[in-house]
Amino acid sequence: MQKITTVEELQHFIASAYEQNKSIGFVPTMGALHDGHLSLVARACKENDIVVVSVFVNPIQFNNPEDLAKYPRTIDADLAKLQKANADVAFVPSTEEMYPKPVTEVYHFGQLEEVMEGPRRPGHFSGVAVVLRRLFELVQPQRAYFGEKDFQQVAVVRDLLRQLHSDIQLVPCPIVREADGLAMSSRNIRLSEADRKVAPLIYATLKEAVLLKDYVGIADTKAFAIEKLKLCKVFDPEYFEIVNDTTLQPVARWDEATGIVGCITVWLGGVRLIDMIRFK
Ligand code: AMP
Repeated sequence: MQKITTVEELQHFIASAYEQNKSIGFVPTMGALHDGHLSLVARACKENDIVVVSVFVNPIQFNNPEDLAKYPRTIDADLAKLQKANADVAFVPSTEEMYPKPVTEVYHFGQLEEVMEGPRRPGHFSGVAVVLRRLFELVQPQRAYFGEKDFQQVAVVRDLLRQLHSDIQLVPCPIVREADGLAMSSRNIRLSEADRKVAPLIYATLKEAVLLKDYVGIADTKAFAIEKLKLCKVFDPEYFEIVNDTTLQPVARWDEATGIVGCITVWLGGVRLIDMIRFK
């Protein structure tokens, strides 16, 4: 595996891959890699000749400076994991390399960003879009791999590709969980030992909510999940939305859409955790 830190070097690598008619799979990450990220890399390895993984903590997608400062950075361990996972390139640019000039681009995603993470993290999805457009232009992949844990991000990337008239194929990948059900996340390492022990209650609650579906309506299902988590005082749920899986708009009835998912964000000991589950 090659570690590449400059745009120029990456461009050379990609040009030579194109000369050899190799297909390219791309996995964008912010590092602190875990098996969730590696599942994307494994899928990309299966479906492409060459796999490029970017490791870049993108400052412009953080609306909270403290979250950016505290974001875990474990580059040596990340590189070892990527090597073992058979990635071909780890692209690890500096902020100056990615943003030599001040960023002025802004992206909008209409109703997709009016819900859930959108209003709570102003500028977040535009920041994600800016970095992804740059990375897509540099890597020129045939396929790009994203985790469904960030369900709203997948919808936003789908819309970004449409806005860019791009023919990159978006490949959504299922959530990888710890044995106790907690969705793997780079932020989990910031949980205290006690909080880590109760954290699986988030997914357990989502699964119970799905069981309720045949008996109660949407409003009661939402209330159930929020109240259940609040009962354990350490959880501070920020939202639990039950939405159409394509438009991301909240649904009022189970028969209102063919695909319905529940997306939750919960604070636990100062760490913001997200998770999701499919209702139908
Ligand atoms: P991040 O480094 O958090 O920006 O994540 C990089 C990619 O890995 C995103 O597409 C995430 O959705 C995906 N990802 C993060 N955690 C998981 C997980 N537990 N299972 C599957 N994909 C994940």
